[in-house]
Amino acid sequence: MSYQGTSNPIFILGDDAQRTRGRDAQTSNIAAGKAVAEAVRTTLGPRGMDKMLVDSTGEVVITNDGVTILEEMDIEHPAAQMLVEVAQTQESEVGDGTTTASVLAGQLLAKAEDLLGRDVHPTAVVEGYAAARDIGYEAVRDLVLEGELDDDLLRTVAATSMTGKGTGDVNAEALADLVVRAVRHVETDAGTNRDDVRVHTQVGAASSATELVEGIVTDTEPVRDDMPRDLADATVAVIDTKLETRETSADVEYNVTSVDQLNAALDAEESELRRYAAAVRDAGVDVLVSQKGIDDRVAAFLADAGVLAFKSVKKSDVVAIANATGAAVVGDVADIEAADLGAAERVHVERFGDDDLTFIEGGADAAAVTLLVRGSTAHVLSELERAIGDAVDVVIVALDEEGVVPGAGCAEIVVADRIRSEAASIEGRAQLAADAFADALDALPRTFAENTGMDPIDALVDLRAANESGRAGLITSGERGEIADPVAHGVIDPAAVKREALASATDAATMIVRIDDIIAVE
Ligand code: ADP
Ligand code: MG
Repeated sequence: MSYQGTSNPIFILGDDAQRTRGRDAQTSNIAAGKAVAEAVRTTLGPRGMDKMLVDSTGEVVITNDGVTILEEMDIEHPAAQMLVEVAQTQESEVGDGTTTASVLAGQLLAKAEDLLGRDVHPTAVVEGYAAARDIGYEAVRDLVLEGELDDDLLRTVAATSMTGKGTGDVNAEALADLVVRAVRHVETDAGTNRDDVRVHTQVGAASSATELVEGIVTDTEPVRDDMPRDLADATVAVIDTKLETRETSADVEYNVTSVDQLNAALDAEESELRRYAAAVRDAGVDVLVSQKGIDDRVAAFLADAGVLAFKSVKKSDVVAIANATGAAVVGDVADIEAADLGAAERVHVERFGDDDLTFIEGGADAAAVTLLVRGSTAHVLSELERAIGDAVDVVIVALDEEGVVPGAGCAEIVVADRIRSEAASIEGRAQLAADAFADALDALPRTFAENTGMDPIDALVDLRAANESGRAGLITSGERGEIADPVAHGVIDPAAVKREALASATDAATMIVRIDDIIAVE
């Protein structure tokens, strides 16, 4: 690769470097981005279809969730990867709307391609898109439903996010109720900490057996079968050190010449282990949770002392248990003081099929809750876990951020119309780009119509007309789609989800449009 500006070419790139410039660069990046968006488009909305993704090891994921599909697809093209990031940003910021954001980004790219083909400069596209997005933010704010976000409304928001996600219609209502109760339980004046609502999945029962546990559920099992399995008003200690002899971890040989010496060495070891157990018992501990190992003999002593102990507990569970019970994580059992101990109303171990699950309920400190999600197979369960996770997210962002707006394509149509009418005041070619942004938004209700088997053109015309005189969306119920008020039909999304979709889709599309030189180095 050489630069021909002077009489002698200057070589700035290696032989292996591949370079694509100008329109070719834009066209190939845009095509890659569009292809990604197209891949998730059929999953959008309540009648969206699922995808089955099979990886190289034969592992199967069946899902309707945009971000999961894109992550599992193992996309390599760098521009396509930016669309995956759109979905990931959407997921991490607001927890739902990942398909919406990806489809919008794909549409923005498709429209950008038209504009570039008509000699609109990339900076005018970027400018027009940014202006349209800002008009969109305002329109979303104006759409926020007035009045208090009561539990009824929150249940509706939760149910909307779960529609079409394999929860089943009957179940969705019950699950939405659990989700709202979970969030309400951990809500504080300062907002809600997402980590306080945990989701734990356990295969083996119908999803209707899903329950809300006021505390922590972990799949850690007691160290020994002869430990107590149900303790009320339990004192809890949390440690992150091994309860093993130092010698067993280092590779040391005993150099013994007599049976007496051997016995003395074993006694010394034994008494060290006994000291651990005694320290735990003397501190008044009922439940010991360790992130590290516990020697079998220590475990036997602990069992004798009536202590329920857990070893090699996952770090995230250790932290959650410490937070919930108010325990401090202690480095050395000999140092345990009363102030380090936590408390729980009840700690119990229950058998689920072949697994033990441990419940730590009514912790003294933070009010963490766990949605114990049940499902008949691992695949059903994973999809349910994602759906319930989304539902928790939407309830939290609806409460903590800017409220809720009508769903089912209503918000998109209203936002698009607002952009069209305000675009007139945008100067120059950026105006064309703002108009194109509005057209891109139309793709969302159009996709609902397509996925419901309605004629997309008729549906859009009718939807627009209906929104002139009132509030309307493309409501899907069962097999049918109809144009009706989304609020009356309980289809409501958080405003933050719509706002974030405008933001993340615009960011990705404008970033891709700005690129006019691709240099690939092997
Ligand atoms: P995303 O990944 O973007 O959340 P979904 O497949 O979850 O994609 O679809 C979300 C969209 O489906 C939202 O715009 C929501 O308003 C809409 N929706 C949910 N339930 C209904 C319904 N019964 N009728 C029409 N639209 C619905
Ligand atoms: Mg969704």
